[in-house]
This record gives sequence, C-alpha cells and structure tokens, in this order.
Amino acid sequence: MVKVILVDIEGTISSISFVKEVMFPYSKEKLENFLKENFNRPEIKSIISEIEKLEGKKLELDEVVNILKKWIDEDKKITPLKELQGYIWEEGFKSGELKAPIFEDAYKKLKEWKDEGYKVYIYSSGSVKAQKLFFSHSKYGNVLNLFDGHFDTKIGNKKDKNSYIKIAKEIGVKPEEILFLSDSLEEVIAGKEAGLNVIKVSREGETEWINNLDINQIKEFSELSI
Ligand SMILES: [Mg+2]
Repeated sequence: MVKVILVDIEGTISSISFVKEVMFPYSKEKLENFLKENFNRPEIKSIISEIEKLEGKKLELDEVVNILKKWIDEDKKITPLKELQGYIWEEGFKSGELKAPIFEDAYKKLKEWKDEGYKVYIYSSGSVKAQKLFFSHSKYGNVLNLFDGHFDTKIGNKKDKNSYIKIAKEIGVKPEEILFLSDSLEEVIAGKEAGLNVIKVSREGETEWINNLDINQIKEFSELSI
C-alpha cells in the first residue's frame, strides 16, 4: 500500500523551461558579481574549496567563475554548483525577480494528497535549499506546507537505485510503500529497481511519450487515481 509519494520537480510538477530558460541563465548572469560580493562568507568559501578539491588545485576567483559557467552550460549536477545556485536564486526569489511555476494539475493533486493524509516528499537534483525557495515563492504563493520533506543529490544520484533505498530508510517506510513520479526514464527505472512503485510522467511540451513502455505512464496528474 502506498503511504508516501516522492516527486521530482523539473518536467514533473514544474516546467523544464523555467529552470533551463529562466533560472539557469539567471544564475549564470549573476554568478560573477555574486561571488565577488560574497566570497568571504564561510558557506561560499566552503563551496569554493569543494570546487578546488574537484579540480585538484587552488583557483583564482575568475577561474572559479569560468568553471561554474561551463558546468551550468553543460547542465552538470554537481553539488557545489547546485549549492551556489541556491544562494543566487535565493536573492532572485526574495526580490520577486523569480517566481516558480507549478503545473495546475500537479498543484491540485498535491493538495488532495495532503488532505488524504499521504506523506509527500520531493527528490530533485536542485539543492534542498533551492527547493525550499522555489516552493515558498511559487505562483500559488508559499506552498511548502504541501511537503513533508526534501531530498537532493546529497543522498545520491537520481539514476542510482541505492539513492531510493536510502530515501525509504530515511523516511522510515518500505520501498514498496513509496510511489515515485518523474519525467526521467532513467530515474524511474532506478526507483523501480529499488522496489518503489513508479510512474513515468510524460507531459506534452516537456518530455516525449514513450511507446510500448512497461512502466505506468501519464501525461498529467489528473490521470492518477490515488
Ligand atoms: Mg525531472
């Protein structure tokens, strides 16, 4: 029996284009100034030393900027990049320059699940910090109360089945008590391998419908019966 619903963000409850066409360019555009203004903050310093560790050498600020811009262009899911973007987006959301879109059908279903007593968790490659910002500044206002918790890549890669086993353990339920929804086939397969119930979300204009898929597939959350 499903007790917990685990959802991805991008392409699943929010549009890929907002992240790709609004949030990513925003973080790239503000990156240099943000680092120049904030490099002395302890949390930013520790992000920079994480990047230096990954690159295996000490880096000048300009080099850090270039590496980060390259990672953004390549859509790299690297924790220090995600954390730094979180700080930059924080400024954007708080100032009202950024406002998070959520698909209406997903928003309705999330509210229903909450009312019906399901526990709802987010699993996204965006940092937990960025996730919380996103949901506290959405087009429906602050909707953080719809969620019982958040996971990001700190628990593991979304394409690795072990991440889903860890998530189940952390929540305190069996894998088969979780329903996981994502637009990524690789993520859905990883979740399935871990023993979760899974649904592939293939929204029109977001990700393509896959024919002959042996996994449940939906276009919109309104099709869900739970
Ligand atoms: Mg996704």
